[in-house]
Amino acid sequence: MPSRPPTLAYKAVVLLVVVAPLLATLVAIYTLWERAVTWRDVTLFFVFYALIAFGVTVGFHRMLTHRSFRPHPVIKFLLLALGSMAFEGPALQWAATHIKHHAQADREGDPHSPAEGFLHAHVGWMFSSDVADPEVYCRHLVNDPIVTFISRTFLLWGALSLLIPFAIGGWEGLLWGGLVRMFLTHHVTWSVNSVCHTFGKRSFETNDRSRNEWVVGLLAFGEGWHNNHHAFPRSAFHGLRWWQFDLSGYLIWALEKMRLAHEVYRVPAAQLARRSQRAGDARATSSPLAPLVTPAPTSAEPVGAP
Ligand SMILES: [Zn+2]
Ligand SMILES: [Zn+2]
Repeated sequence: MPSRPPTLAYKAVVLLVVVAPLLATLVAIYTLWERAVTWRDVTLFFVFYALIAFGVTVGFHRMLTHRSFRPHPVIKFLLLALGSMAFEGPALQWAATHIKHHAQADREGDPHSPAEGFLHAHVGWMFSSDVADPEVYCRHLVNDPIVTFISRTFLLWGALSLLIPFAIGGWEGLLWGGLVRMFLTHHVTWSVNSVCHTFGKRSFETNDRSRNEWVVGLLAFGEGWHNNHHAFPRSAFHGLRWWQFDLSGYLIWALEKMRLAHEVYRVPAAQLARRSQRAGDARATSSPLAPLVTPAPTSAEPVGAP
């Protein structure tokens, strides 16, 4: 039978059959969304995620643990309170664990190295009874009145991180602004320990398995540039290239402009250039299965390296 070219009416029907269900699906999703999840819940989720993530990345990590900048006392209090809301342990304990991680990164004594298994690095390590002692790892913080106050009242801040979304949005508010937000905050933080010591690129030679992973960089507000961080732990900025998005770095920069942060530590350009040049060979190991190359004679062979 000779085939005739399709008529305009035929084409219109095909278009309708293709497009109408798509539009209907979008409407269905929208109505489901309106019933189950409201814009208020989504807003609560994003606002609490952002505030608490900054508390961990800028407050607990860069300010408290690495002294990347000297904060105004009010900013210090706020950041530590927000960081405590992440339910990742009291500020003092968090700092002790993290200093221990840097001191023994991927060697014996590292609280969370993927050398002992990826899941151990991600979540398993928290079930270990081996706890970093603040008296040993961060003595200088033990007598800091703001740090000790916030650490002692840790449970209060944790409770507030659930009660405030509940007060604003009821049970749905608690679900999205509290629990779903906590789930994401936890896994993103833990990914810095697991993913960023397993996957990604090594831009600098370091005596550990730290790597730069851009997805974690995005979700964890810059903390995913973790090889940069192990190479220059004190740097207030973990993104060291213009394309390495580092939201926490922008916040520190903004605080500095507003004179709420002082003595912001920046890696000297000459030092950065020297380390970048030396890292020429280490750059290549982008596969998680590739052995870690540490050609510098002073480098220690990491535990469990293939
Ligand atoms: Zn690390
Ligand atoms: Zn660190």
